[in-house]
Amino acid sequence: WKNAPPSLAALIQLSRAHGARPFTIYEDERVTYDANYRAVAHLAARLREMGVGKGDRVGLAMRNLPEWPVIFFAATSIGAIIVPLNAWWTGAELEYGIADSGAKILFLDGGRHGRLAEHYRNMAQLERVFVSRTDAKLEGRFGHFEDLIGGAKTWADLPEIAFPQVRIAPDDDATIFYTSGTTGHPKGALGTHRNIITNIFSGGYAAARSFLRRGEQPPEPEPRTSLLVIPLFHVTACSAGMMTTIASGSAMVFMYKWDPVAAMEIIEREKVAVTGGVPTIAWQLLEHPDRDRYDLSSLENIAYGGAPAAPELVRRIYTEFGALPGNGWGMTETMATVTSHGAEDYLNRPTSCGPPVPVADLKIMSPEGDRELPVGEVGELWVKGPMVVKGYWEKPGDTAEAFVDGWVKTGDLARLDEEGFCYIVDRAKDIIIRGGENIYSSEVEDVLYSHPAVTDAALIGVPHRTLGEEPVAVVHLAPGTTASEAELQDLVRERLAAFKVPVAVRFSDAVLPRNANGKIMKRELKAWFAAEQAA
Ligand code: ATP
Ligand code: MG
Repeated sequence: WKNAPPSLAALIQLSRAHGARPFTIYEDERVTYDANYRAVAHLAARLREMGVGKGDRVGLAMRNLPEWPVIFFAATSIGAIIVPLNAWWTGAELEYGIADSGAKILFLDGGRHGRLAEHYRNMAQLERVFVSRTDAKLEGRFGHFEDLIGGAKTWADLPEIAFPQVRIAPDDDATIFYTSGTTGHPKGALGTHRNIITNIFSGGYAAARSFLRRGEQPPEPEPRTSLLVIPLFHVTACSAGMMTTIASGSAMVFMYKWDPVAAMEIIEREKVAVTGGVPTIAWQLLEHPDRDRYDLSSLENIAYGGAPAAPELVRRIYTEFGALPGNGWGMTETMATVTSHGAEDYLNRPTSCGPPVPVADLKIMSPEGDRELPVGEVGELWVKGPMVVKGYWEKPGDTAEAFVDGWVKTGDLARLDEEGFCYIVDRAKDIIIRGGENIYSSEVEDVLYSHPAVTDAALIGVPHRTLGEEPVAVVHLAPGTTASEAELQDLVRERLAAFKVPVAVRFSDAVLPRNANGKIMKRELKAWFAAEQAA
């Protein structure tokens, strides 16, 4: 096996075929596939010299920067487990992730380093900490990342070296990604090389499938430029975004921080063909008052996942951008893509998140988990396939609860149609039961989004003495527009059963609170509403 490169490193070696094409673009730094390969091989060698080996955890806490993929591939190429940490976390939260995963090596950008200043003394297990892009004086266990392999602009000049030889099997541990923490404390999902590589084959599937269903030939995959605005520390960007980028020799443009105007400038300048990530990004581009000042005609696909997308969004992406919308359902526990929806299939079924990719099985189970439900009925979505992770890192109880015989219980309520398309109706934890009647929040939110002024909508359940819960809507309106509570309630009343009409509509001046993965934090909205009632 001596010449067989370990699985994820093989990807980087193969990607050298794309040679001088850009892989990552960040401000004035353009890292080619070849330069990226050189940087990964050198960093892998440095890590080996430090004694990092199989199963060791390497923490990675930074925003999207060219060094992120380099560190990711270098660590996994020598059999270490990379632990991407949420760059939005506070010092205390980062400390939790580092302690929970038991990382002994940590890579950070200057911002995260500053945030951890007060916390390092609690982290004796950390042997080495490398900080990139900082002028701070670093000594002892702290060092500059650039001293290891140089800065991004110099990677192309690194001499060519071979990867360290480490034997890695497909089911060896590769990653610990933390869940978004939407419903509770984030949990580390332990993923394998097989899990993450599976995403490559899921990538182009949705669009191709839509053509094949019509008996047409799908267009050949070509290298394109994508604007990656979602953070690499979540599986969507890392495995769905980055892996498919590498597979097609495409380029990823990074933004250190999301900003719609800067995004439109980049789309125009770099002729970006693909963007999205989460629905809110698409909304913010569509709704931006200065949108017409930019040439966005290069956009071919706007694809997203991670949160419910209103049918209104699907229609508007197609008609106003002339781009094809795409949707994929997945979770950290499945290392991203499980269903994938695109092109005409999506335009025709805008409330679906698509059919499963060819290597995934879906089933809809009764709430008790003892019975599979027939087509069309709503129940809990269970998923099986080579993308499902082994379980939660050092959480045997949670693992036993969620992972059963190769299936992962998703906690999402969904139904399937005759053709196997999946429709997510709610998270089990968000479903509102009003006097015994089920209200799925996405159904009501979709109606609210159809009002031209509404750009953000969430339905939450609030306690009621006799009914148990009642639905309340929280909306944010596009700047300069108006809508009244009664008008929005009437809109829901026209389309849905009376018990689904929100008893109150609250208007939020700001966009609704979201976590780093673009998900509305309903827990926060509920707490806010409760505080308002108590006042
Ligand atoms: P936690 O598990 O910590 O509460 P989380 O579930 O939000 O957080 P993720 O793994 O990032 O963490 O998100 C997975 C969830 O995102 C899914 O269970 C589902 O509720 C939602 N989701 C993902 N893709 C879609 C989609 N295309 N449409 C609707 N919801 C989606
Ligand atoms: Mg979850």
